[in-house]
Amino acid sequence: MADLIVARPEGLYCPPGDFYIDPWRPVARAVITHAHSDHARFGHGSYLCAAPGRGVLLARLPGIALETLPYGAAITHHGVRLSLHPAGHVLGSAQVRLEHGGQVWVASGDYKVEADGTCDPFEPVRCDTFITESTFGLPIYRWPTQAALMAEIFGWWQANAAAGRASVLYCYAFGKAQRILHGLMRHAGADAALPGPIVVHGAMTALNSAYAEAGVALPPTLTTADLPARSPALRRALVVAPPSAQRSTWLRRFGESADAFASGWMQLRGTRRRRGVDRGFALSDHADWPGLLSAITATGAPRIIVTHGNVPVMVRYLCEQGWQAQAFQTEYGDDAGDDDEPAQGQGQAQAQAETTPESSEEQGA
Ligand SMILES: [Zn+2]
Ligand SMILES: [Zn+2]
Repeated sequence: MADLIVARPEGLYCPPGDFYIDPWRPVARAVITHAHSDHARFGHGSYLCAAPGRGVLLARLPGIALETLPYGAAITHHGVRLSLHPAGHVLGSAQVRLEHGGQVWVASGDYKVEADGTCDPFEPVRCDTFITESTFGLPIYRWPTQAALMAEIFGWWQANAAAGRASVLYCYAFGKAQRILHGLMRHAGADAALPGPIVVHGAMTALNSAYAEAGVALPPTLTTADLPARSPALRRALVVAPPSAQRSTWLRRFGESADAFASGWMQLRGTRRRRGVDRGFALSDHADWPGLLSAITATGAPRIIVTHGNVPVMVRYLCEQGWQAQAFQTEYGDDAGDDDEPAQGQGQAQAQAETTPESSEEQGA
């Protein structure tokens, strides 16, 4: 039987359907798994995404010719039945299920298995061939629960506020920022007693609005325009900013502050050191190693294709465990400024050098 999805220079291609999934070069028809910039690019003739992802995709790519499909609904294109299923990664993120000639293939884009309240949770979809990412595909990656991470972030903010200094938390503007806002609000509970105001960087306001319009509960936030320069409230504030704001003049108005970075890569001490922040919170939009394996197993697929991240490690491991596993050459995961992807020099080599990420922290040079 011919493969339902193949790797072409433009992107992942479905030959019988004549469309692409998350293509990185301009094509006529693109199915988009989610709006992170390594998966959703300008230049395609037409776009299809999951209905809840409409607002964020248009915020990223205004003016595109976009059609949407509710999760679970199916359309048939050139005899290929296509449906989209939640990937639990960011708002609107979808796994693409294709059925044709008695075969079912699922291309999952980026995914995370723990539900976070800001998007529909990951849904296992049975298939014959499953296409998976492997961003954190090394056994050392095991995330604390989100509740534990939110408690940690909240406690850090509380301690800083009590000491009269702002808490600057760096995270990516799309997905991570909204999860942190939502998670802290949930952590604060019914009385919503936060240690101080939340100030968000201008890069995040449009995406926050898109989340709010999609019905995701977010706490009230301010921008620096709402607060006078020497406002005492700034000394208790949580400042949520993209990594690009680090060492910018925009930060000076907050005076003395503590800083931290929220990303899965923070599980590695080398990344924390390179970022030069006081604290790291290992909060990721991607599945950790046990999450990847549970998602792969839940599909029931005997054949697995790995697209990005720690590809050789995952392929080798799956083959050893009896799967029929292979790799696709893709251009995903190369946008360090946007997704929860490695910045230069991060990733596999560093991770393999750090086989005991937390325990060796105190001995680290
Ligand atoms: Zn992504
Ligand atoms: Zn990605």
